[in-house]
Amino acid sequence: MTAVLQAQDLGKKYGRRWALRDCTIDIPAGHVVGLVGPNGAGKTTLLKLACGQLAPTSGRISVLGGPPTGQAQLARVGFVAQDTPTYTGLTVDEHLRLGARLNPGWDAALARERIDRLGLDPGRRAGRLSGGERAQLALTLGLAKRPELLVLDEPVAALDPLARREFLRGLMEATAEHELSVLLSSHLVSDLERTCDYLIVLVDSRVRLAGEVDELLATHHRLTGPRRDP
Ligand code: ATP
Repeated sequence: MTAVLQAQDLGKKYGRRWALRDCTIDIPAGHVVGLVGPNGAGKTTLLKLACGQLAPTSGRISVLGGPPTGQAQLARVGFVAQDTPTYTGLTVDEHLRLGARLNPGWDAALARERIDRLGLDPGRRAGRLSGGERAQLALTLGLAKRPELLVLDEPVAALDPLARREFLRGLMEATAEHELSVLLSSHLVSDLERTCDYLIVLVDSRVRLAGEVDELLATHHRLTGPRRDP
């Protein structure tokens, strides 16, 4: 099976400063991948490199078996950006119609069914939705493009704990239902440990840890003692 993401000595510089450097990873297919690290660690940079929105300064990156360039390859990867992934002045329904117009592989039935299930009013402007509802709308738009890999940049950072849990549960359900690979970032490992099965830890522009979540958590628990849930 094709790897979700492979990178070799991947690096990106803005001016004279490295935002990401020496990044070498190889993540097999079928994983929900979490990318965790503090502010400024280089998460957005890595995600944008994976979506072809940035070109590497050094090294190579391959997504779903090919470089993230060219229309056909880029159509296989959906991106839910961190800031303003929806337009505040457009209604929910207008977002769906715009999506249908701009994306050849648009799955209108999936989008409508999800909006119904979430109980979102199609006539409501995105600017009047709650943060959680807006995040769910952005996720619906990402899913309706029917990508093979969905990349989400800190989608729950601004949400309260309940909205966080609901969003992540919806994402996990959609992942299973549509056989989707996911690459998801957060600065909190607690958002990712139950959602993802593979974790990349970025600190100071470098990959410090990468591996299966179960293995990483087992090592962590071995070093720190048994976990006590609150
Ligand atoms: P956050 O959690 O705050 O979004 P991040 O882990 O996503 O952070 P990046 O946005 O990838 O980190 O940024 C990595 C570094 O690169 C930071 O020091 C940031 O200031 C810098 N950087 C990001 N984009 C640019 C840019 N367009 N021009 C110059 N420097 C940039």
